[in-house]
Amino acid sequence: MNESPINLFDLTRMQMEAFTATIDDKPYRTHQMMKWAYHRRELDFSAMTNLSKAFRSWLETHARFRLPEVVAQYQSVDGTIKWLIRVAGGNCVETVLIPDRGRNTLCVSSQVGCMLDCAFCSTGKQGFNGNLSAGEIVAQVWLANRMLAERGEVVSNVVLMGMGEPLLNFDAVLSAVDLMMDDLAFGISKRRVTVSTAGVVPAIYKLAEVTDVSLAISLHAPNDELRDQLVPLNRKYPISALLDACKHYVDGLGAKRSLTMEYTLIKGVNDQLAHAKELAALLKDVRCKINLIPFNPFPAAGFERPQPDSIRRFQTFLIDAGYSAMLRTTRGEDIEAACGQLVGQVSDRTRRQSRYLARVKASDAEITPKETA
Ligand code: SAH
Repeated sequence: MNESPINLFDLTRMQMEAFTATIDDKPYRTHQMMKWAYHRRELDFSAMTNLSKAFRSWLETHARFRLPEVVAQYQSVDGTIKWLIRVAGGNCVETVLIPDRGRNTLCVSSQVGCMLDCAFCSTGKQGFNGNLSAGEIVAQVWLANRMLAERGEVVSNVVLMGMGEPLLNFDAVLSAVDLMMDDLAFGISKRRVTVSTAGVVPAIYKLAEVTDVSLAISLHAPNDELRDQLVPLNRKYPISALLDACKHYVDGLGAKRSLTMEYTLIKGVNDQLAHAKELAALLKDVRCKINLIPFNPFPAAGFERPQPDSIRRFQTFLIDAGYSAMLRTTRGEDIEAACGQLVGQVSDRTRRQSRYLARVKASDAEITPKETA
């Protein structure tokens, strides 16, 4: 049987060692290959001169480091860069690089579109077309590093805050995150790789079993009544269940680390002082930092960003209540690269999103990472 060559970007170090064991049982050859690909950005086996000829020719037959096509690159006046990347099936996702005072944060997509349809997010408005492979997630970091190499820089932080719900693409995200934190690949500290979730509760427990990557929760509301409206997934996994999962996850991180609670501030919806008070009370037993995100508008959003003084009032209340509450500065707005503005090119022909939403609203959906794999 003629099998097509495997994409090595899909494989973690352990998976790669297992894959190459048929030709060479010494893991260090695989390690040399990883260093070529990830550290020297050389993807052509024939140029990997410290590997034996036999190993290289076996690789030529059985494997590739396959990159997705970069369809377009946009540069913001503030230095933010957005790439449109074509993935399997012909759809496109977006990746955003945010350079900031010596840090290069990369905002990576994990799915084509999103099923969850949060009320204030443009990604959710266009439907869902499928999962990215691990290699397609990893390649976003690789491509950003290739560009940054021209300036002698690297991606220093990764946030899985682009298109999609990472925990509904569990296995691929886990492999990708593993490579981001692996010294033979990107070597980024676990404190600087953050998975962000709208709150897929069973997947948070599952994540705690297999990794200690940093975790951010898209909370956005201090009570179920409001959160049900903003994040429909809350109807399935309400705040109390979500916070129990959060406490479990943070317990596994060690005393010095905490979670991030994301809270998008929307004018007249969740930005009142009463919401800040409710939030402060709600989170008192959860070791977390709060990240406030002023709402980023998109066409026909139907929401507005609060005035700067009400944002400040909200933030000051939380700080006075003893929280670390950072205000996330909006970046890349002129190229529609800010939080919630990523749309890519998604054709939800299968209407998977509407089917899923109908089930969540009927509250009989079994939303587990396995189901969507
Ligand atoms: N599905 C994941 C990853 C998305 S991360 C999650 O929900 O966490 C992107 C972050 O930006 C999330 O906290 C999301 O809720 C928030 N966001 C979405 N749309 C936004 C908008 N228009 N303005 C500001 N933040 C937004």
